[in-house]
Amino acid sequence: VRRNPGETEFHQAADEVFDSLGPVLKKHPEFVQASILERICEPERQIIFRVPWVDDSGKVRINRGFRVEFNSALGPYKGGLRFHPSVYLGIVKFLGFEQIFKNALTGMPIGGGKGGSDFDPRGRSDGEVMRFCQSFMLELYRHIGEYTDVPAGDIGVGTREIGYMFGQYKRITNRYESGVLTGKGTGWGGSLVRPEATGFGAVLFAKEMLATRGLSFEGQRVVVSGSGNVALHAIAKAQSMGANVITCSDSSGYVVEEQGIDVELLRDIKENQRLRVSDYAEQRGSGAVFVQDGSIWDVDATVALPCATQNELDDVAAKRLLSRGLIAVAEGANMPSTPEAIELFQDAKILFGPGKAANAGGVATSALEMQQNASRDAWTFEHTERRLEEIMANIHERCATTADEYGLPGNYVAGANIAGFVQVANAMLALGVV
Ligand code: NDP
Repeated sequence: VRRNPGETEFHQAADEVFDSLGPVLKKHPEFVQASILERICEPERQIIFRVPWVDDSGKVRINRGFRVEFNSALGPYKGGLRFHPSVYLGIVKFLGFEQIFKNALTGMPIGGGKGGSDFDPRGRSDGEVMRFCQSFMLELYRHIGEYTDVPAGDIGVGTREIGYMFGQYKRITNRYESGVLTGKGTGWGGSLVRPEATGFGAVLFAKEMLATRGLSFEGQRVVVSGSGNVALHAIAKAQSMGANVITCSDSSGYVVEEQGIDVELLRDIKENQRLRVSDYAEQRGSGAVFVQDGSIWDVDATVALPCATQNELDDVAAKRLLSRGLIAVAEGANMPSTPEAIELFQDAKILFGPGKAANAGGVATSALEMQQNASRDAWTFEHTERRLEEIMANIHERCATTADEYGLPGNYVAGANIAGFVQVANAMLALGVV
């Protein structure tokens, strides 16, 4: 804390991992001798830069850009870029830290990193977003590369923004280096299934957890928060497995629709019309109710899929959900449940899939995009989706068996933290003091 003052979210993320590691350090004194914990908390490199751009009225705007290259023991730094006004170093470091272990869990050769800016794309014209992305890349380009650091999307960064950044990278470097960014459009080097992968993956992880108790998504009452990339595809996948998904949300409120969200209309509103969930309720008509004040977690559910942002589900929400029949939570977002909420879920012995395992399908499919770029190939939707299914089943298996091995059966938090950490720590030991 003294070394990284004010980085609240980073402290929270690091505490959560360290809480799981007592038995690991006992079993592996060599990790202590090599100061792996101290090293793993210190990013290999952090870049903070000015991003000047000109808005539509001609005024010069200044934002702050970040890239934290956290750990490259397993491969090039890999992790998304977030454009949101709340972004500061503490958020980027929490996301980058989580990413190290998540990426290890995928079994793919990728290290951990994260970046972004406090730029707010909401209400900005296409031209403004493009000029911002170009200015952002004008600094970032010198730090990234297929073998160095491969950014992707996150909150506020989708295919449009990746396109503008990729175009600028290509222009500056005079290289068509497809593997430098993932989340590209399918017409220009992107992978099929990448847009769906995080949401689909979270549902696939939840499906594996439910199966351990002889349950499935059939007939479950599911509450999904968010209405962005992750939420949209989580809703679609859960519905395809027979669940009734009754909510979606954004930062202005949530929608409840007892007969089930119309995911095609929601997608059109978010991705084409670029409107809000309140507009969804309006266009959908009488069955959908928009609630401006209050918490989405007041809606009864058997399965909760938080897919919006960090710390969106607290102890009050957890208590309420538990008292109304909740049986499973899978985190589509990064760190959406507070530590207190996680403790309540674990004490109640419900199924709880932490983000670094449950939402790893996105980055895993980004690694599949890198594979396709490297071999100048493009796989079919079916083939790529099959790979994603295998990867999610493997991550679930790894978390479950690691938890068993350490005498904590059913504890996916411990399983994910330990399995991810041990793999990275072993690689760091093998690579020497670097
Ligand atoms: P998007 O920008 O596509 O969507 C984010 C959604 O969350 C929007 O509906 C947004 O509403 C809502 N949201 C953001 N902040 C808040 C807030 N403070 N309160 C309520 N709602 C909020 O982002 P993604 O779907 O890509 O990302 C969602 C989460 O999933 C993030 O935690 C991200 O780190 C994580 N994730 C994403 C991956 C990916 O592949 N995209 C991979 C792994 C994890 P509004 O428009 O009002 O801001």
